[in-house]
Amino acid sequence: MKNFVFGKSEWGQAILGCRFGKSSGKKVLLLGGVHGDEIEGIAVANALISQYIEKDDLDLELSIVPSFNPDGTLCGNRKNANGVDLNRNLPSKDWTSDVANERYYPGTAAGSESENQALMNYLDENDVDFIISLHSFSRFLLNVNGDCEPIASVLHQHTGYPIDESMGYPTPGCLGTFTGLEQGIPTITYELERGKDPKELIPVHCKAIHEALKVYSETN
Ligand SMILES: [Zn+2]
Repeated sequence: MKNFVFGKSEWGQAILGCRFGKSSGKKVLLLGGVHGDEIEGIAVANALISQYIEKDDLDLELSIVPSFNPDGTLCGNRKNANGVDLNRNLPSKDWTSDVANERYYPGTAAGSESENQALMNYLDENDVDFIISLHSFSRFLLNVNGDCEPIASVLHQHTGYPIDESMGYPTPGCLGTFTGLEQGIPTITYELERGKDPKELIPVHCKAIHEALKVYSETN
């Protein structure tokens, strides 16, 4: 395992990452906690780190950033320290300052937040092939942007979660649009079951992700 500092939050907290596998393989970035109160995703990301510390048999390079929004998590908030929804703040073509609901406040400018700037720098400096971002929602699903096969299908086989290209409502400035549709990096916004005990989520989803990465590493 290799530890790295992914970036800093608006309050100056380090956003930490762990890297596993083989640097010669495909590069997968897995994020947890983009929304600071979605603890289910943080728990699964941390459990994956424990799993790969125990046994790292990956044939690709997996970088895990379990707590992307540490300020939000510290306060139990969805948004970051500036009250910005980081999944509405990315500089996609559809970013807009218009917001009907404060829950989705996109910030004063696209890409204004240090957490997202860290992500943009990371993507500039690393040839990332695939992104999985763990969230949680009342409706569990695998929201796919770009060509997410075979990973999406393997995740579906192991979890029963439906694969959907849309969240069912507009999401301007979100990661899926920015990286999945505009940067050519297939992106899954992985919506775990909100409120379910992480002890139940961890075995199912760590296995699903591991199997999906195994299949992905074997495909051209
Ligand atoms: Zn979320």
